[in-house]
Amino acid sequence: MSGADGLPAFPSQSFAAELAANRDFASNFEGSELSGSAARGLAIVTCMDSRISPLAVVGMKSGDAKILRNAGARVTEDVLRTLVLATYLLGVDRILVMPHTDCRMARSEEPEIHATIFQQYGVDTRSLEFRTVSDHRAALITDLTRIRSYPLLRKGVVVAGAIYDVVTGVLEPLDF
Ligand SMILES: [Zn+2]
Repeated sequence: MSGADGLPAFPSQSFAAELAANRDFASNFEGSELSGSAARGLAIVTCMDSRISPLAVVGMKSGDAKILRNAGARVTEDVLRTLVLATYLLGVDRILVMPHTDCRMARSEEPEIHATIFQQYGVDTRSLEFRTVSDHRAALITDLTRIRSYPLLRKGVVVAGAIYDVVTGVLEPLDF
């Protein structure tokens, strides 16, 4: 199948439910007055885990906060790059790093994950560093330190960490 200009057509069948849901969403969409800045000055760095609704966890809504997600809520180069932009240009003056309980990244060691993918799919992923976590608190302390010591981050930004419990919904602040 090809679409306009001979490019591959959008895989509509694979996304039929989402496109239908979006038609409903858009038909009820109230023209947004929001800007791209974080209205409540917050950026949350959290995991891609599908049990986490980051805005709901802290009682916010669209427009209030920047959400950065990856496997394990780790502070990578790309997270730092994004936080620099968010703090200088997009109204962020508080950063919350929010890993969670029962994270897939904490259930296995790095070599085990590579082995699992290799066994099931025959693909050697060892050129990637997955940044697994053996101790949530220790990893969070490393990540908070990475942000706080990053020389390009805007001065005066408050950086904190808390662990989200996916069973109870409780956010446990970390003293650090
Ligand atoms: Zn996770």
